[in-house]
Amino acid sequence: MAATSTKSREVIYGGRIIGAKIRAYGAREAAQKAVREADRAAAELWSIQMEAHGGPVQPSPTIAQCLSGGYGWLQVKCHRCETEASIPLEHVRRPRDTPIWKLEAALKCQSCRTPRYSPRVHMIKLTMQREIAPYKWVHPSEDR
Ligand SMILES: [Zn+2]
Repeated sequence: MAATSTKSREVIYGGRIIGAKIRAYGAREAAQKAVREADRAAAELWSIQMEAHGGPVQPSPTIAQCLSGGYGWLQVKCHRCETEASIPLEHVRRPRDTPIWKLEAALKCQSCRTPRYSPRVHMIKLTMQREIAPYKWVHPSEDR
């Protein structure tokens, strides 16, 4: 009668296992969604403060948090010639856990830079879409 016993165990536990699986997957999905929402909120907060008051620059979200939150573009402006550019965070060759503020020091304006002088840029805000025409900025990792 082993077969009957297996069968009844399936009946007893089958539904509970399926239910628990659904809850486990659902909870994981909800947690991932909550993380994305938290990332988005952090990126948005930082961006609004930057745009409104120019800071605080630190602390800032990381590249990963901006991307996760849907803010894929960092808008910057040259101190000297005032050229603005949108930098695609997805293509920044820095570790994903790098805070956004650390990118500022590494960015140089290509429009007005000379071999001797690299104009600094400042960050304006994060955006979800590219708002400024193609980026002509020396990439952080190309300027060594
Ligand atoms: Zn410039």
